[in-house]
Amino acid sequence: MKEKYLGVDVSPLSYEGIINDLRVRIGAGKQSTIIAVNPEKVMSAQRDPNVKELINASTYQIADGVGILLAAKIKGGGITSRVTGVDMMARLLKFAESDGHSVYFYGAKEEVVTKAIANIQAQHPNIRVAGYTNGYEKDEAALVSRIHQSGAKILFVALGSPKQELWIRRNLKSLPNVQVFQGVGGSFDVFSG
Ligand code: UDP
Repeated sequence: MKEKYLGVDVSPLSYEGIINDLRVRIGAGKQSTIIAVNPEKVMSAQRDPNVKELINASTYQIADGVGILLAAKIKGGGITSRVTGVDMMARLLKFAESDGHSVYFYGAKEEVVTKAIANIQAQHPNIRVAGYTNGYEKDEAALVSRIHQSGAKILFVALGSPKQELWIRRNLKSLPNVQVFQGVGGSFDVFSG
């Protein structure tokens, strides 16, 4: 069950809960989207109904940021631990490696995304990298076609918010082979360090 914070959905699932749920959804051929929710996004959703709709239409709204935990404590909600975007990405990389799902990386500067992939491959020697594109690619149609043809099952989009979430929403239907989409903000920068 989702919890609501000022009308914004937040998923109470842990990292493991999400991975287990994803395994079932992938098995059933369902696409899933993961969005990080923090107090800034909740406030922006109060001003802009489109932002609220964008968040609530995602499959998993992870409680990234202590502000959500604080609100849960005050409200007596069931969310007791953070699920951060960068740690969720790390869990998904482990899952991708163990379950043989290929991964595509889209976003950040060229040197950042390539360094992040090199570090990820060093940590996950059996991971299948379907491809990557830096976040300054202008030809969206060509990019979507490249991702589609790569056969990627998991796509990380690192363009910052709300750009990455809007990109995912625009292109979800054109990428039927991609089963999991996560908007990861500055996480490629973290993995590249
Ligand atoms: N970025 C990008 N293309 C753009 C704008 C930003 O690839 O058109 C990348 C930028 O290089 C950085 C990330 O998106 O790697 C933005 O990270 P930030 O921490 O600002 O995002 P947040 O987590 O705050 O949403």
